[in-house]
Amino acid sequence: MDAEIRRLLFIYALQNAVKHSSTPKSGTVIGTVLGKHPEYRSRAREIGPLAQEVVAEVAGMDADERRAMLADLAPEALEELTETRERVRELPALPGAENGVVMRFAPNPSGPLHLGHARAAILNDYYVRRYGGRYVLRIEDTDPRRVDPEAYRMVQEDIEWLGLSITDIVYQSDRLEIYYEYCEKLIAIGGAYVCVCDQEVFRDLKLAKKACPCRDQPVEENLALWQKMLDGEFAEGTVTVRVRTEIEHPDPAMRDFSIFRIVGSPLHPRIDATVYPLMNFSVAVDDHLLGITHVIRGKDHIANTRRQRYIFDYFGWMPPVYRHYGRMSISGVVLSTSGMREGIASGLYSGWDDIRLGTLRAIARRGIRADAVRNAMVDIGIGETDISFSWENLYAQNKAIIDPEANRYFFVPDPVKVAVRDAPLRTAQAALHPNDPARGYRTLACDGNVLLPRADIEGKSMVRLKDLYNISIVWQDGVPTATYAGEALEEARAAKAPIIQWLPADANVPCVLYTQDGEMAGFCEELVAKEAGKVVQFERIGFARIDAAGKAGVAAYFAHR
Ligand code: GLU
Repeated sequence: MDAEIRRLLFIYALQNAVKHSSTPKSGTVIGTVLGKHPEYRSRAREIGPLAQEVVAEVAGMDADERRAMLADLAPEALEELTETRERVRELPALPGAENGVVMRFAPNPSGPLHLGHARAAILNDYYVRRYGGRYVLRIEDTDPRRVDPEAYRMVQEDIEWLGLSITDIVYQSDRLEIYYEYCEKLIAIGGAYVCVCDQEVFRDLKLAKKACPCRDQPVEENLALWQKMLDGEFAEGTVTVRVRTEIEHPDPAMRDFSIFRIVGSPLHPRIDATVYPLMNFSVAVDDHLLGITHVIRGKDHIANTRRQRYIFDYFGWMPPVYRHYGRMSISGVVLSTSGMREGIASGLYSGWDDIRLGTLRAIARRGIRADAVRNAMVDIGIGETDISFSWENLYAQNKAIIDPEANRYFFVPDPVKVAVRDAPLRTAQAALHPNDPARGYRTLACDGNVLLPRADIEGKSMVRLKDLYNISIVWQDGVPTATYAGEALEEARAAKAPIIQWLPADANVPCVLYTQDGEMAGFCEELVAKEAGKVVQFERIGFARIDAAGKAGVAAYFAHR
């Protein structure tokens, strides 16, 4: 009976520890056991000390040992934890969406997409999937100086990777004639005028709530000036078209804002033009003409929404429903496109997929899945409160996806070559996946000559080589002498010996594990070379994506623990 209670306490203590990556309180474990096995309630008093013992034992184990032991004791309890967390993620309903929506994702092709873009892309996608309808990818490339010709392809690739349910693609650079036409209309109805004032002069007038002389030009004169703009008779910076708003508007940014400009030299990779709409105009016209019903975008667009509203009002159009989500800070990675570009040019970063960057291609390279990004973004939602992006949640989401897939291997960083004295010939059979024995085993033949991870043996007097045997170590002048110390797992446990990964000294391949903080060099199992493009778990180290692999060596990128 006691043995059974102890077994149950062990299972739930381990399950709790694996789930929360920390040691549970004995009270929690007792609660779980008694909750699931009410027949032991009468013995709650005896269970207390037993639970404390068990918890202390679990506290002395590392994460891998806990998993391994749980897999041994109760594989179903481990499985419960790794099942993909299919929670119902429900975001607030959108008004007027019941019969379907038309939404858009509107990136500027200035570089590849990063986590900031992913939020807009995924939240809009979420609602299109929820309500049905169309999802327009609108490439906003009307600022020739900020267009990177490569970005058209990269944005496309990133969208495919994210798995967005795009139904239509529109390039704004194909639509200049449309913007010209609507600009002319806006001028004709008195909603806009052509301003030739010096920019500084206009600014001072605006701040003083005073109209500039151009504001009162007759419509015919504005139309003539507009034609001159299109005919190339103005130089860059000498002319603009302004929406007539309220010159006394409390927010100076709303006062007669610009909607067109000249870009002198024809720099655009797709078209030959000099007259370009500014984003508020092209966005408003397109949102209307493309029939966009709902727009989800960041709070940083609130002022733009207000400006765009003037354009909708002049034309008598119904604006879409807008939702502005709060700012999201993302720590630990570079996100500014110009910062990334400069770093790549100077050689600081290896490319757009350098893992110190916050681009989607950089996180994909580490083995983080699009679905994990999607889940993390939907968890963040469309709330207006500013938040910081949770890498922990992204990693937890990702782990739920990759843990069941990833084969387990040994990687020994910073290896020490050790000849174990009195070692019997042994062949270790290590499971490719602890929860899925059907996947098979790695076979590691060992004649006693092994590579061990320096950090894990330094100062230790006994360690257990995982799936093999125990060794005792004597240190002299920093040099270890190791001796075979039997096979019993219990002995290793009693001696509080860590269970560590190892490699046969003569059968392995060089491996470099790249992390955001630097690289770890060492060796890994030869089989890893067959995992190129896949995610593996380096036991006791964490999940990594095998980026390149051959006989000469393996390059892996660290995802998370
Ligand atoms: N292309 C702009 C951006 O990426 C506009 C997006 C929008 O209007 O929502 O910021």
